Amino acid sequence: MSIRRLPPELVNRIAAGEVVERPASALKELVENSLDAGARQVSVRLQAGGLELIEVTDDGSGMTPDEMRLALERHATSKLSTDAIDRIESFGFRGEALPSIASVSRLTLESRPRGRDGWRIVIDHGEPGGEGPAALPPGTRIRVEGLFDKVPARRKFLRSPRAEYAACLDAIRRLAMARSDVGFTLEHDGRRILTLQAADAPTRVAELLSHELDRHGVGIECVRDGVSLSGVISLPTFNRGVADQQYLFVNSRPVKDRLLVGALRAAYRDLIARDRHPIAALFLDVPLDEVDVNVHPAKTEVRFRDPAAIRGLIVGGLRRALDEESQRSAAREQAAAPVMWTSSNSYTPEPGLSLGVPCVREEQRSFEPLTFVPQARAESAVEPVRDFPLGVARGQVAATYIVAEAEDGLIIVDQHAAHERLVLERMRAAREGGAVARQALLLPEVVELDEPDCDRLEAAAGELGGMGLDLERFGPSTMLVRAVPAALGKTDAAGLLADLAAEIAELGGPLSLRDKLDLVAATIACHGSVRAGRILSVPEMNALLREMEVTPRSGQCNHGRPTWVKLGHGEIEKLFGRK
Ligand code: ADP
Ligand code: MG
Repeated sequence: MSIRRLPPELVNRIAAGEVVERPASALKELVENSLDAGARQVSVRLQAGGLELIEVTDDGSGMTPDEMRLALERHATSKLSTDAIDRIESFGFRGEALPSIASVSRLTLESRPRGRDGWRIVIDHGEPGGEGPAALPPGTRIRVEGLFDKVPARRKFLRSPRAEYAACLDAIRRLAMARSDVGFTLEHDGRRILTLQAADAPTRVAELLSHELDRHGVGIECVRDGVSLSGVISLPTFNRGVADQQYLFVNSRPVKDRLLVGALRAAYRDLIARDRHPIAALFLDVPLDEVDVNVHPAKTEVRFRDPAAIRGLIVGGLRRALDEESQRSAAREQAAAPVMWTSSNSYTPEPGLSLGVPCVREEQRSFEPLTFVPQARAESAVEPVRDFPLGVARGQVAATYIVAEAEDGLIIVDQHAAHERLVLERMRAAREGGAVARQALLLPEVVELDEPDCDRLEAAAGELGGMGLDLERFGPSTMLVRAVPAALGKTDAAGLLADLAAEIAELGGPLSLRDKLDLVAATIACHGSVRAGRILSVPEMNALLREMEVTPRSGQCNHGRPTWVKLGHGEIEKLFGRK
């Protein structure tokens, strides 16, 4: 065996594999360089999704010919003083992007500092391709042609021009959101796609996100211990099938960080179905020494000094904003004039309530459906309605919807959705009150898992015990389950443990366990609740309405749909042409 130093050419190509995966990542590096150079305007032209051409032009500081030559060398950067790796304010700092891109494409670098002449250097797949004077306005223009054309191994992994274009557009959107003070244009195959003037952050975000967020968004603004979080997130009812519209920024750097994505998901737990995703643009500002950006060659992940605090701030901040908004959302979906009602008294669990007793009342549980039932029944209007925001039950329609009369309109409640929510909130309240009933297993169940998973569960055993799940380490790769939360009934313990271990591994920290159990709770709630198709007595219906009024988050079911809607008197009058 002989050990040899790799020639710089090969080193650059190896690095290119990390830094430039596809056109979008090269584009990102180039635009970041423009922003670091103080550009006020960045113009991007692409051909064939960037596969044929990526061109980025800026009006930033520009470079002298000597600086240009240096910039194309590996580990040459103007952005990092020797001892400042822990206080990085620029996008770039590694000095790898230009030489990496130049090693796998034909790169033309043209630059002109203010008050000087322009110069051009061409590098063709790492080899000098000539240089000379160039005519251009002050700033820098970089053209990248035929990216990966001569690197078949990489070329194979590229997708269609259309898919590569989508990734490029995404990269530009993220950077444009990160730096709303800079103007951007984007052209693809000769077509103008984006024209963005410098603006404040909310305006820029509104331009780039769904305009529907004006109506279906919630503004976020919170500060804690020098860390601030701002931005906009969608109401749970306004969601998407893919998580493609989640824009996260740490100190103005676009990131795709697992911790942040996990925190966002946790904030929506049980407000949104598991396969649906909120829209979000969130800006987190953290003191520079609290975050390490040098953990990933593409700089899209970060590491926080205190991840739990960051996660707590995000989950708490978003959750609070969503809770405040939740009572209003159902009404806002329906009515032109939003109906607002909030209840000041919060829900307190009934004495003796345990996880094992879903919130079906005694009288409800003893209620057997009749064989012959009318599809709708009505009560005469005798009770005063003004005391109750959700009104007084007047009847049931299709054995599924409760119709109630409120002082200012008609309320329709989806009984299953509403009840499911109440059950979940009760279980949660019981758990927070410490009254978790557990069911000891006669024979402890033996669950085989791999060793790291067992380690994780063992470390979390105390926390899980508090939630009614008693676990014990039994061997290197075996856990014993001694008790389960009573509400779980007969459970697939192995499946539950595997899910829990995966969740702990992914997110870490006790909060994720709570999230996990909330998900479990939501599933139980669904099984424990009043089905659609079940006839309810008027007292039962009123009891449901009263409980909804005092239960937090009861305006939405566990899947994010509204549990009730309102038809205001004004709207009824409009329907009859009286207005
Ligand atoms: P890094 O951004 O990590 O410093 P790069 O390889 O991306 O590394 O760029 C190397 C150097 O080239 C930068 O530090 C900067 O001095 C210079 N440079 C690159 N692009 C531009 C630009 N558009 N305008 C001015 N200078 C630039
Ligand atoms: Mg750079």
